[in-house]
Amino acid sequence: LPPAERVGFAIVGLGRLALEEILPAFGESKKARPVALVSGSPEKMKVAAAQYGIDPASCYDYAGFDRIRDNPAVKAVYVVLPNGMHREYVERAARAGKHVLCEKPMATGSADAQAMVDACAAAGVKLMVAYRIQYEAYNLRLASFVRQQTFGRLVGMSAINVQTVAENGAQQWRHKRALSGGGSLPDIGLYCLNTARFLTGEEPVEIFASQYSPPNDPRYAEVEETVSFTLRFPSNLLVNCFTSYGARDDKHQRLNFEQATVDMPNAYLYRGQRMTVIQRQGNATGQTELVLQQPNQFAEELDHLAECVIGNQRPRTPGEEGVQDHKLMEAIYRAAESGQTVRL
Ligand code: NDP
Repeated sequence: LPPAERVGFAIVGLGRLALEEILPAFGESKKARPVALVSGSPEKMKVAAAQYGIDPASCYDYAGFDRIRDNPAVKAVYVVLPNGMHREYVERAARAGKHVLCEKPMATGSADAQAMVDACAAAGVKLMVAYRIQYEAYNLRLASFVRQQTFGRLVGMSAINVQTVAENGAQQWRHKRALSGGGSLPDIGLYCLNTARFLTGEEPVEIFASQYSPPNDPRYAEVEETVSFTLRFPSNLLVNCFTSYGARDDKHQRLNFEQATVDMPNAYLYRGQRMTVIQRQGNATGQTELVLQQPNQFAEELDHLAECVIGNQRPRTPGEEGVQDHKLMEAIYRAAESGQTVRL
């Protein structure tokens, strides 16, 4: 679309994700453009506004955010704040009459997430959760393998998302429960959970889980370090998930089909996914490396909401999807605390 017809986005919170991935991704978007910024840091905002050609009059601080209502260039608001602030800014955006894209995890619990869905419905605006893996080319291809049974029935899946949080140690908002809602599970383990649901199109019916945090480490005074959980789906597919802040980075996804193993060593990265299909060929094992075109996931995500706004359609990853993940994460914590299998 020519620039004037693109859907104008306001970006709320100029942290690492917004500055390093989202704002640059607008350069690869075809239907969205950045038209406003919201930040607590005027200096940082001035630099970003100049870099992306945003009118200084469309730069807001948090207290002045509600004035966005009077800015007709802004059609959608992208909330990229710490998780504990998502609800407030999604609700304020909805009250200003703007469509909303909200970063994952949607909130810090299912009750808040449901309130956000209700607020956007009441305001008549769209609400989408930024589950970028559902817009990523290799994972989309994998979903078609699962759903079309290309390699027969999917019997098992293992999903690992491990990442160290380097910045500021215990002072990082990710280690403060009020701002994060939890530790590795809602931050990165959520990719394992949401991707398993996305790939299969099924909802888990049973959950078993276990968790661990090193004692006396201030980073884990409020949130957990490590969670392992197993999901049983109605088709009897069993999915093993593992997430942690304590070990070296690893984002490995492996799917065991009747007739093939599909291996993705870096399934949840921002870019550079790889996929190997391992199949028996006669008495030998054949490996095929799939090479797909891979558009920028963030640009795909921005364009999806833009298309939904233009065509008045429901996003593929609506708020309800976030509510469901929060309910499931609450069930994972219940399973871990009780040591019992939780039936849903
Ligand atoms: P950062 O800490 O880098 O940035 C958060 C920004 O929020 C800050 O820079 C600040 O922006 C603003 N902010 C306002 N109030 C606070 C506060 N009390 N404490 C800290 N920051 C505050 O976080 P990320 O960019 O890593 O994460 C932001 C959101 O994006 C989270 O919900 C996270 O889960 C999600 N995320 C998603 C990813 C994905 O792949 N989809 C990857 C990484 C994060 P300012 O200075 O402009 O006011």
